[in-house]
Amino acid sequence: ISLTAPVSKQSGADHSVPAVGNKIYIVFGSNMGSSKEFATELELKAYGQGFDTVLLSLDDALMSSGFSDAAAILCVTSTYNGFPPDNAKVFHEWLMSSVAILPHGTRYAIFGCGNKAWVTFQKFPRLVDARLAELGGIQLLPVGEADADGVFEEVFEEWVDPVLDALSHSLGSIPHVTTAGVVNIGGGKLTVEGGEIPDDNSATAVLHMGSFLAEVAANEEMQSPLSTRSTRHIDLILPNGASYAPGDHLAVYPHNPEDDVTHLATRLDLPLDKVIVIRSKPKRKTESLPFDRPLTVQTLLTEVLDLFKSPSRCGMTFLASICPCPPERAQLEELGRDVVKYKAVVGDSKMTLLEILDKFKSIPAFGVAELLLLLSPMKPRYYSISSSPKGPKGADVASITVAHLSCSMPSGRMHQGVSSTYLKGLKPGDRVHVSLKKANDAFHLPEDSTSPVIFVGAGTGLAPFMGFLQHRKHLLQSGHKLGPAVLVFGCRSEDEDFIYRADLEDYLKDGVISHLLVAFSREKGSTEKVYVQHMVQRNGPLIASNIASGGGTLYVCGDAKYMAPDVRDAVDKALEPYSIKVTTLVEQQRYVEDCWA
Ligand code: NAP
Repeated sequence: ISLTAPVSKQSGADHSVPAVGNKIYIVFGSNMGSSKEFATELELKAYGQGFDTVLLSLDDALMSSGFSDAAAILCVTSTYNGFPPDNAKVFHEWLMSSVAILPHGTRYAIFGCGNKAWVTFQKFPRLVDARLAELGGIQLLPVGEADADGVFEEVFEEWVDPVLDALSHSLGSIPHVTTAGVVNIGGGKLTVEGGEIPDDNSATAVLHMGSFLAEVAANEEMQSPLSTRSTRHIDLILPNGASYAPGDHLAVYPHNPEDDVTHLATRLDLPLDKVIVIRSKPKRKTESLPFDRPLTVQTLLTEVLDLFKSPSRCGMTFLASICPCPPERAQLEELGRDVVKYKAVVGDSKMTLLEILDKFKSIPAFGVAELLLLLSPMKPRYYSISSSPKGPKGADVASITVAHLSCSMPSGRMHQGVSSTYLKGLKPGDRVHVSLKKANDAFHLPEDSTSPVIFVGAGTGLAPFMGFLQHRKHLLQSGHKLGPAVLVFGCRSEDEDFIYRADLEDYLKDGVISHLLVAFSREKGSTEKVYVQHMVQRNGPLIASNIASGGGTLYVCGDAKYMAPDVRDAVDKALEPYSIKVTTLVEQQRYVEDCWA
């Protein structure tokens, strides 16, 4: 956890300066969606506390009003190799220009998502922070700095309540709430009414703003029967007008498992077929909750709320307030009050609301309004697209490659990944809510097909490269010359999880790839653990010459925490004879990562 300064003190928040505007701008700079998700969560909380909020990307916010009516700017943003995210580029130019002005008394706070392994860690968030101060903004808190090596969510959770506290103190408008966000639900901000589903069901067809329905064409197991794990290759038919490029991402809106939905509904005495409408006053648009449209409790519990995200400390305090049994109430109060205890009991074991309700049996049934503040809205999960529109399945099919996540929690509960379990169970003909997301600017094949490329990926990190390879095959078939392509892939063993093996061997035969280097980490009869970074080391001269003499580009996809830094080190070592550094290649967009923590 790395907040740059203690959060209990407000740094420089001057209570005596009135703000000109009244809007709280909750803005994000986000390529991969994490910063946008955090901003969405912050907006929902701030709105729930009575602030007049608006949620926009940094560029859209600038273009909509230039912040002229801002009382405060709360910004969540990432950095890409020190550069601003794609939807913050116009804002960045404005911010650094002489025309940038802020309304008098504008409060601000910045939360940055980054990766400490890079020298550019937090470069853009820190720059925004410093520049807003130069423009006369009043800083509410030092920059909240999350690192991909840690857990973004934890740092964010520790930043979000203090920042809203600082905001209300600084603006002198302490919201009328006893515990953040909780009592407001009865106070007319978020209300839940009864409703009716229209006959044509059109109002409920698309639940998530910006998403569309894609039909499953195929869902195949990629691991061999000898493996105890599962990786699925899923083909999705996109509707007319939806298009993508190799390397882009597909966001999936998963469903919670049916058993858990039924279990929660039974515990809370909520009929699954009951129709409700969630209203907000004043009316507003948000991607996080489907307002003003009728939906059943079943849809709410299956698709709208994430049943597996632990309730916050505020949620524990709320549960304590309705709990009639004194010893249970005292325990719940402590979990709401004591950060360390909360983390040990709820946070670290990712205790779900269902587990809490099963443990604290005296908590009575409560309604949907309370559920809305105890549970978070379901977030989309992002997958690299593992096909090309020019591939054999055609432009209307996007494939994804999904490893099924299954792990045991400290509480003893076996946790099955919500999205991967949902996707694994889909059958051809099923329809899934998805949206498309552009990859970061540099994560595309070079324009010149003769320029060398090196792909390094472990496990499902192979996914985007399958799209790139389909594209190279199309180029080859349509008469283009191809430069060398080295694929470094890592998996456990030859006869368990060497996914897409037949395709890769064909590509090697056809000249779509020039070298296929596979690292097996658990090969039968071998005690040696070979990872992709070892393969890079062993083949240093091949890789370095393609980059240095050939002017090639190296792409890395897979685990951000351990694999990506080790691959960087191995490439740096390989490049020593050429006196080139990975950091230089990054600046030239010739070393590109698409890595997930
Ligand atoms: P996995 O099967 O668990 O692992 C693949 C291989 O990587 C195994 O041989 C594993 O070896 C090895 N490995 C473990 N630690 C390593 C390290 N520090 N450095 C290098 N190799 C290491 O992988 P997975 O479940 O498919 O997930 C791979 C990663 O790719 C995940 O972090 C995922 O989030 C990410 N990713 C996925 C997509 C997608 O579209 N699905 C896209 C981008 C990124 P051992 O297990 O024997 O140690």
